[in-house]
Formats: sequence, structure tokens, C-alpha cells
Amino acid sequence: MKNLLLLLPLVILVGCRQMDPPEERKWWKGNLHTHSFWSDGDDFPEMIMDRYKSEGYHFVALSDHNILAQGEKWIGMAEDTMLRNAFQRYLDKYGEDWIEHKEDSGRLSVLLKTLEEYRPLFEEEGRFLIIQAEEITDRYEDKEIHMNASNIDQLFEPRGGSSVVDVLQNNIDAVLDYRDRTGKAAIVHVNHPNFHYSISLDDMIALEGERFFEVYNGHPLVHNQGDSTHIGTEEMWDLINLAYHKNGKPLIYGLATDDSHNYHRKGSTWSNAGRGWIMVQADTLTPEALIGAMESGRFYGSTGVVLQDLINADNTIALEISAEEGVEYKIDWIGAREGDNAPTVFKSETGQRSSFSMSEDVIFVRARITSDKRHSNPVENLVYEMAWTQPFEYSD
Ligand SMILES: [Zn+2]
Ligand SMILES: [Zn+2]
Repeated sequence: MKNLLLLLPLVILVGCRQMDPPEERKWWKGNLHTHSFWSDGDDFPEMIMDRYKSEGYHFVALSDHNILAQGEKWIGMAEDTMLRNAFQRYLDKYGEDWIEHKEDSGRLSVLLKTLEEYRPLFEEEGRFLIIQAEEITDRYEDKEIHMNASNIDQLFEPRGGSSVVDVLQNNIDAVLDYRDRTGKAAIVHVNHPNFHYSISLDDMIALEGERFFEVYNGHPLVHNQGDSTHIGTEEMWDLINLAYHKNGKPLIYGLATDDSHNYHRKGSTWSNAGRGWIMVQADTLTPEALIGAMESGRFYGSTGVVLQDLINADNTIALEISAEEGVEYKIDWIGAREGDNAPTVFKSETGQRSSFSMSEDVIFVRARITSDKRHSNPVENLVYEMAWTQPFEYSD
């Protein structure tokens, strides 16, 4: 009997361990929208990857316009001090053995490294991952229609179409078909809908199979906040989701991205690196794990605010901010209930943590966190560091 009693704590311990959550997931920081000399960015891929990696990013997708970093591409370096300096920095860092360049009648040309070539310089298991991507850059009349395809191993030619929706849908379908055909976890997201006010709320509502769009894009010309006659992307997000819910479609998730092009000039009129990113909660740093997590809504967009915890248990969403000393945070729970035609702020709180319990009639709720810390390099009037969780739905 005595022996049995001694065993009892052990039994309880084992029992508890079985109820522990699975291995804790990590947060991975990444940017899925970046440009280089392969299209209209103004630096070499190696310099860009080095910058992101050294700034603590875990993954980056280089997404140039209608091109993958493969095959032979020479770029002419104009007699421009900024570009010549960029080349010199590249040469200083990587050396003559790595860089192939030639001078012809005073004109300098440089051979760009392919993804296959530069990838091994940066990738490290559990530390840094490069995701192959493309910005499918299409148009309809005067509308600029851009979508990013991430984790792909083929080029997608823009499909065109007979309307804005048709162009979007044709390109989305091309990526979804590729995914079905190859089994590769590729995703497609709609970029900056308010760039030239090209993609309207109604266009977004008409889409089939799209799960992601950019609620924040760091390019200075994309009108995240809209203007006096156009809604901003955040309001658009909720209105899309109200319509998707009504039409029986899964909710759309929001990304923050850099859309970086300018690596040598900094300020509100340039598209710089480091403005907006996503934090993805996944077991491992692989494209499959990251994309799987994104499709489950386990990620948030940020321009500076970092979350310590974001938990959904029994229809209660609880979040804790990794607070910086002396910084205040406002947490808005935004969503809609059955019968609503517009989003509402259900609750606002200040502090480091907040939670929201969903009742059955809640269609979705998401948290927006606004700090009183100024963004170091903002665009538009988005001058304070922020974060946006994905919308959560009530589940039985
Ligand atoms: Zn674009
Ligand atoms: Zn872009």
C-alpha cells in the first residue's frame, strides 16, 4: 500500500503531461513582398537578403514583377552616383570572385545572381528562409492589378481578362490550379488594392478562392488609408468579410508587407524595407509550415507592435503585447454580428493585455493594436506602430 501511494504523484504527473499542449509554436518574422534589380528594385538580391536577415527577419520572398530570379540577366548600371555607389558596396562585400561584371565603352554591366546561386549564402535551418515568389503584374485598361504568388517554382505569365475581376480571378485560378496539380503549398495574395484605386470593394467581394490581401503595404503610392472618396484597406477588409460570410466563403486574411524598391534613399516618398511585416506562428521554418499557419489564420501583420501571445480558447481571444517601456497600447476589438451591415468596435482597452469573448452571434472579431510610439519611417498618416490580428470566427 505504501508503495502504491508513492507511485501516485508519478501517475498524476504522467496524466498531466498528456494534457499539455503540443510543442510550443514559434513566431517567425517575414516579408512576402520585396523587389530587387531583377525588376524595378534598386539593389542586388544578396544585399537585400543580407539586410533583412541582419535585421532579424526569418523569411523573405523576393517578388519581382513578372520574373523569377533564374536564367541569365545582365543589368546596365547607369552613370548615376547612387547606383555606382550601390555597385561599389556590393563589390566590397562580395568581391571580384563572386561578382561577374564587364565594362564596355565606359558602360558597366553586372550579371545578377540567380536564387539558386544566392540562396545558400543566407539560408539556415530554423534561422532564415527564402521563399521563391513573383509579383504577377497585370492590368485592365488603366487599372493596375498586382498579385503575389509565393512558394512557386514556375513563372506565371499575367493572364489578362475582360474586367478587373476577370483579370484577378484568372491569375488567382492559375496559382490555385498549379497548387492542385503539383501539391506545392503555393499561395496568392492580392496586393495594394488602392494603388491607383484599381481594385474596388466590389471587385474583392466577387473573388472566388482568394484568402489573403494586403491590409498594409509600405509603398508610398498605395493609399492604405484611402481618401475622401475611397475607403481605406482596413475598412475594406471588414466589408469584404461581411460579404464573404453572407456568401458562405471563408474569411480573407490581411498581410502587412514592405513592397520595398528603394534601398538607398529613405523617407516617406520612397518604398523602403522594414516598414511592415507578418509574424507567423508555426512549428518549423519551412514554406509548408508557414503557409499552413497562414491559412489557419495563425499570423498577424505589424508595423512595429510585437505580440507575446495570441490565444483562441473556447471562443475567447486573449492577447498579450510584448510591451516596450514607456509605450502605451490601445487595443480595439473590431468585428460584426449577424445582421450587421458595417463593422463595429466592440471594445477598446488600453494596456498590455486584453481579451474578447465571442458570443454565438459574432460573425468575426479581430484586434487592432495602436501604440503611441512613432514609426521610425512611416507612410501616409500611419505614424504610430501598429499590429493587426486576423479575424476570428465563433466555433461550436
Ligand atoms: Zn505592385
Ligand atoms: Zn511590388
